Amino acid sequence: PAEAVGDRRDETARRLVRRAAPDRPPRRSPTAPPEESAPGLSLVIVAPRDDVAVHTPDPTAAESLMASGTPHLYAGVVEGTGVVGPLVLPGETGCAGCLHAERTDRDPAFPRLVAQWRSGRQHRVPPPCDLALATTVAGFAAAQALAFLDGRTPSGTGARWEVSLPGLRWQVRPVRPHPSCPCGAARKGKQEHIPEDGGWRATMAGQGPSAEVRQEAEPARPAGTWRAHV
Ligand SMILES: [Zn+2]
Repeated sequence: PAEAVGDRRDETARRLVRRAAPDRPPRRSPTAPPEESAPGLSLVIVAPRDDVAVHTPDPTAAESLMASGTPHLYAGVVEGTGVVGPLVLPGETGCAGCLHAERTDRDPAFPRLVAQWRSGRQHRVPPPCDLALATTVAGFAAAQALAFLDGRTPSGTGARWEVSLPGLRWQVRPVRPHPSCPCGAARKGKQEHIPEDGGWRATMAGQGPSAEVRQEAEPARPAGTWRAHV
């Protein structure tokens, strides 16, 4: 806003958020059991500020979301790269654990690398990132979230979109359900009812894992299951 010209950006942002939502969110003590009648969250956007968590979402951080069956969407910026996805439908589409397992398949040293990254990078202050890139990523993530809440299956479902400076070409990689992941999406996938998977398989065929993919017509949303949360 005009009156904030010259002020620090973070202070202004905090002030605007407080003005838009002056009430404190309801807090529950960690020991209090969730209320039986409390409706589940429709969608949680996981936007880590830490570089490693953006590049390699930590499956343990999403355990409560997975256990409660809460759909969640990852988004973040690490250095010059923005990431949106996967949008995880627990037990239906590839999750952070599936992504980790698939990367470990490709490189058995991957878990050790991640452990090293995590042990060495404890930023108290989030590292800076490109403002235009962050805005682009936030807008794309918001569009994915709104499409999901409208009952659609946006392109981040079971997939990870990445865009890097300075070329700014969006690329998409599928995050497939992994048989060793406890989320069980791989078992489910053997039945019917996998949101994007058929589309990805057809589209990705012969293009290699990092090829650019033009998303085909939007597939049908899996019947009913996730509608119930909205
Ligand atoms: Zn999984």
